[in-house]
Amino acid sequence: MTAPTIATALLGTDPHQRIRLLQTAIASLLMFAAAAAVNYLVWVGITPVWQGVVWTVFTLGTFAGFLLFIRLGFNRGLADPSLSAAQMVMAMLVSVWAYAIANAGRGAVFPAPMLTMMFGMYALTPGSIRRIGWFAVIVFGVVMGVMTQLKPTVYEPRVELVHFFVFSVMILTVSWLASQLSRLRNRLRTQKAELAHALERIQDLATHDELTGLFNRRHMQDLLHLEHQRCMRSGHPFCIVMLDLDHFKRINDAHGHAGGDAVLRAFADEAKACIRASDAIARWGGEEFLLLMTDTRASLGKLGVERLRERVTALRPPGVESSLPITLSAGLAEHRAGEPISETISRADQAVYLAKAQGRNRVVMG
Ligand code: GH3
Ligand code: MG
Ligand code: MG
Repeated sequence: MTAPTIATALLGTDPHQRIRLLQTAIASLLMFAAAAAVNYLVWVGITPVWQGVVWTVFTLGTFAGFLLFIRLGFNRGLADPSLSAAQMVMAMLVSVWAYAIANAGRGAVFPAPMLTMMFGMYALTPGSIRRIGWFAVIVFGVVMGVMTQLKPTVYEPRVELVHFFVFSVMILTVSWLASQLSRLRNRLRTQKAELAHALERIQDLATHDELTGLFNRRHMQDLLHLEHQRCMRSGHPFCIVMLDLDHFKRINDAHGHAGGDAVLRAFADEAKACIRASDAIARWGGEEFLLLMTDTRASLGKLGVERLRERVTALRPPGVESSLPITLSAGLAEHRAGEPISETISRADQAVYLAKAQGRNRVVMG
């Protein structure tokens, strides 16, 4: 078995679950280290054997349970799927238990709750981190008080008081730092989402025309370049169609600039609905549009453009109801092998002039 197969067998394939399992595995390893320390105290005679054994079995068993729970996917759908809060509370409880059985060795226990707090910053809200900090202070305070009553010669009240003071100050400071880090993490995550959104918006603005929502001229130039390259590789021809709305000045004069804009938008919507998914249309200039028909011969392309021309004559955008017809003239040029793309565009342009000269509202081949 290779290393990746072993990793997959142990951790599964879901990247979120793998991170949760790894974090729990690290917490479990720390519990192993804690168990080694407790068993050292047993070995040197500071902690009674049975207390050490019960603590070790319970602690390692609980964390093995956390690992199994996550590996089997029972954590999915929980509010805290990393089980961070549960693991932290459990770590605090076994720490305070270790304190109660460590007798003279109890000083070694105090760093453990501090480290536990740091785990919270990965998955918990600042509020939950602070609550767990206060929970640790209360639980340790109560158990320290009880131990000074049960074994006053070992857990000397004067000494435990200063232990409690230092423990409280440190745990509350660490919990504050961890909650700050958690807040910073949340802010970074929000900023990342905002940046991704802004980038999407910028890309949209850079490639689209604001008025009509069609591609803009710059983006169409990129598309034409790509299509040209594709055509050189495959030999499949494509068509460039120049579309120009007829007598647009009259439309503007009759309905005002806003009316003209409404006609441009209505035309754009109609064109988008009319062309094939593989075609692309852009606003090339004021009331001029360029349609790129990929993998298309002129004869077939002309049928498509005729259909669009007919549908445009039926356009009645809101606020532009009048006897002025909305029509377009189109020039269609099929790309010839070896021809620069500017040449094809220029042939389509000339065909539009011809269409205008021949009386408008028609499609002419260039
Ligand atoms: P032809 O049939 O010969 O094409 O006549 P035309 O009036 O359409 O031709 P011309 O190209 O001379 O005029 C185009 C007009 O389109 C002029 C300009 O004011 C108008 N126009 C260009 N861009 C816009 C726009 O964004 N909104 C509006 N409302 N009008 C625009
Ligand atoms: Mg024009
Ligand atoms: Mg025009």
